Amino acid sequence: METFFAGDEGYEAEVAGFQTGVRHRPAAVVAASSADDVAGAVRLARARGARVAVQATGHGARVPADGVLVTTRRMAGVRVDPAARTAYVEAGVRWSAVIEQAAAHGLAPLAGSSPGVGAVGYTLGGGVGLLGRTFGYAADHVRALDVVTSDGELRHVTATSEPDLFWALRGGGELLGIVVGMEVALMPVPIVYGGGLHFDAAHAAAVLAAFRDLTGAAPETLTSSVGMVGLPPIDAVPEPLRGRHVLHVRLASTEPLDPSLLAPLRAIGPLVDRVGEVPAADVGSIYGDPDFPHAYVGDNVLLGELPPELLAAVRTLAGPAASVPCVVDLRHLGGAMARAPEVANAVPYREATHILRVLSPAGEPGAVDAARAVHHEVFAAAAPFAVGRVAAFGYGPVGADPSLPAPRDPATTRRLAQVKDKFDPDGVFLSVVDANMCS
Ligand SMILES: Cc1cc2nc3c(=O)[nH]c(=O)nc-3n(C[C@H](O)[C@H](O)[C@H](O)COP(=O)(O)OP(=O)(O)OC[C@H]3O[C@@H](n4cnc5c(N)ncnc54)[C@H](O)[C@@H]3O)c2cc1C
Repeated sequence: METFFAGDEGYEAEVAGFQTGVRHRPAAVVAASSADDVAGAVRLARARGARVAVQATGHGARVPADGVLVTTRRMAGVRVDPAARTAYVEAGVRWSAVIEQAAAHGLAPLAGSSPGVGAVGYTLGGGVGLLGRTFGYAADHVRALDVVTSDGELRHVTATSEPDLFWALRGGGELLGIVVGMEVALMPVPIVYGGGLHFDAAHAAAVLAAFRDLTGAAPETLTSSVGMVGLPPIDAVPEPLRGRHVLHVRLASTEPLDPSLLAPLRAIGPLVDRVGEVPAADVGSIYGDPDFPHAYVGDNVLLGELPPELLAAVRTLAGPAASVPCVVDLRHLGGAMARAPEVANAVPYREATHILRVLSPAGEPGAVDAARAVHHEVFAAAAPFAVGRVAAFGYGPVGADPSLPAPRDPATTRRLAQVKDKFDPDGVFLSVVDANMCS
């Protein structure tokens, strides 16, 4: 275990993460290599009255750490059990490592759009995956968690050993302890049928309408989404997409796709049509999320319906004419995500049919406030159809739009608070869901 204090050589590199718009400034950062290191850091922090935060990749950084930051990137072990179809994943593992090792056995984890995201942080926040409609949330398929709680003890948390903590950790998204490893189910998915279709934003109205129809007719084996983004005129962006504002329809199916489902989209005339068979090891290509650290701010609403007037508002407010560059991501939910898992967990709002996310770059001075003002307009247009929000998709510095719905329903909020009181009565762990998100 190495510990760095502010000013030490190595401190800045250790606290840095993917989200550069939030800077952790802990008094000490503990570079953990084992469960013992994590337990030692928690005990030490507790003895000194310092708050504890944890970082794996920094994709979800939102609240800057102040006391002790435990970094887990050195805890990078993955053990796949092909017979049991499970993987044991240590705290610092990115999905890319699990995807690669599982694919060697014809298996796939319930990862999301970006393989660079941390498997543990993603799963604790629920985990809205590429194959979500077929299998449910990632949190629905956790078998066990090894967790260091605020007393510095390592607990093996399962449905029988610690039922309350097991419920809360799977999708609750609150920092209730530091997970040092988790056992998750893998799915028998050697190939995903899907990929992406890119369209010029001139066709935005037609593409969004066709996407809406697609989600109305899609079987549970198909999970899809549509993105809207302005691509820069740089060599890294291939022609014919370079410098264009585009819509990107992404598809991920466990069964071969019925061509009639895609016919209306194809009739619009995509710039690029890359739908086919995607090897499980290559699912990161479906979204092609950015994999370089940068500053971003954004939020989301869970929708109970997707009316045409909302699509028109999103196109106008967050499309090419918006006053700040916006990245829109509209994902189809439902299917298995709408059903409670075998062992209940803290994932709220299963009735949602779609999630609408809006993000913007936040690197320049004033960019956060300018972006939030535009996002506010979009979320206000969505408010009549909103049923909730996903805390894990709240990005950037704290300061959530008070008009957004709470990320949890009152019953889930109450039960999570009881679990927090039981396992972290002194508030040793930094609360990662800000006050107005909890309201
Ligand atoms: C490009 C991008 C794509 C994304 N795609 C998806 C997606 O498709 N679906 C989806 O559901 N989410 C997605 N997310 C959101 C992502 O799941 C959350 O931001 C998640 O918190 C990231 O976890 P991390 O460990 O990588 O990040 P970190 O910033 O390192 O951690 C974020 C939080 O996770 C918790 N955490 C991390 N490790 C531990 C641990 N060992 N013990 C306890 N708590 C821990 C802590 O609360 C921590 O503050 C995406 C985010 C980005 C930036």
